[in-house]
Amino acid sequence: MFRPAWLEINLDNLSDNFKKIKKIVSPSVKVLVCVKKDAYGHGMIPVSKRLVKEGVDYLGVADIDEAIRLRKEKINKPILVMGAVLPKDVEPFFKYDLVASISNWELAYALEKKAKYFNKKIKVHIKVDTGMGRLGVLYTQAYDFIKRLTKLKFLELEGVFSHFPLAETDPKFTLKQIERLKELKQKLLNSKINIPLYHCANSSATLFYKESHLDMVRPGLVIYGLYPKKNMDIKFKPVMSLKARIVLVKRLPKNFGISYGHTYYTKKDTNIAVIPVGYGDGYFRKFSNKAFVLIRGRRFRIAGRICMDQFMVDVGNLKLKIGEEVVLLGRQKKEIILAEELAFISKTIPYEITTSLGSHLPRIYIPS
Ligand SMILES: *Cc1c(COP(=O)(O)O)cnc(C)c1O
Repeated sequence: MFRPAWLEINLDNLSDNFKKIKKIVSPSVKVLVCVKKDAYGHGMIPVSKRLVKEGVDYLGVADIDEAIRLRKEKINKPILVMGAVLPKDVEPFFKYDLVASISNWELAYALEKKAKYFNKKIKVHIKVDTGMGRLGVLYTQAYDFIKRLTKLKFLELEGVFSHFPLAETDPKFTLKQIERLKELKQKLLNSKINIPLYHCANSSATLFYKESHLDMVRPGLVIYGLYPKKNMDIKFKPVMSLKARIVLVKRLPKNFGISYGHTYYTKKDTNIAVIPVGYGDGYFRKFSNKAFVLIRGRRFRIAGRICMDQFMVDVGNLKLKIGEEVVLLGRQKKEIILAEELAFISKTIPYEITTSLGSHLPRIYIPS
């Protein structure tokens, strides 16, 4: 690898965040960590291996291919495929011992048929839509649906789960969703349908709604040291940093236009540094003239538009050397740039910052 731009993933920080969550939930509550989308860009395999070492109970992925990648790396923990899959694609659930999320009869029936064929029971979690409007059986129909599932002899109903759209912003609605799930549980219990794992808590709910913990919590965000809200008392440690090396420094005269569109002009004779990262690396073009980078522990604003694979910084009279390290995300000396700051600048959420960078840039792991 020759290009001087890379992500650093601090697995010790990941462990600390995981332990913090373990401390928040009671010991009887299981922890499923969401490692979908390559662990939010942090690298699903090293992240999952470390979490297994730390005693994670369950892993959550978006699709079957991610689950297979985990199994091929000998990760033997239970894996919940949280996304929807097509009824024709049920075979891997048997071959790789995966747990399916069920929102409809078509998938349930396809699993039952395949299970009968293999003569092997299959674990499933039933997704219930208590107010997300995405996957899941509508909560008003969930009891009848689950009752119908109990007739399928080869399905082992291991879990029932739901998801929150407003856990950061609307306590009333969120509590109502928890109530809907608990009512369903009670109704099923009254009919002697005993399903061991009820779960609904994402990161926000894990932190802010103890009553949402039920049998298992399902955090992603906070495990990666990202925050669901501003100004939180509880601290997590950022896991991803983005670093690069300065590839060129040159002196430019006053009033010299920088990059496409000349959206930045030098105010005086100045040193301009070129940094080899661009929007093609998932470093958004929206950062142009707005985001900062850290050089020698100081903040410098990006000068001009971000290009596909590089951008410029006006460092004034600072005499930089080629090869010096620049931090685009993370800490350098006393300064830090958080994913939250980059998310704010580009009007998005930290999830999109890390998944975007993670799907483009090489990663190194600490400790390696
Ligand atoms: C991604 C995801 C989570 C985790 O959400 P965070 O906000 O990252 O904690 C939980 N549940 C489901 C179904 C998810 O898709």
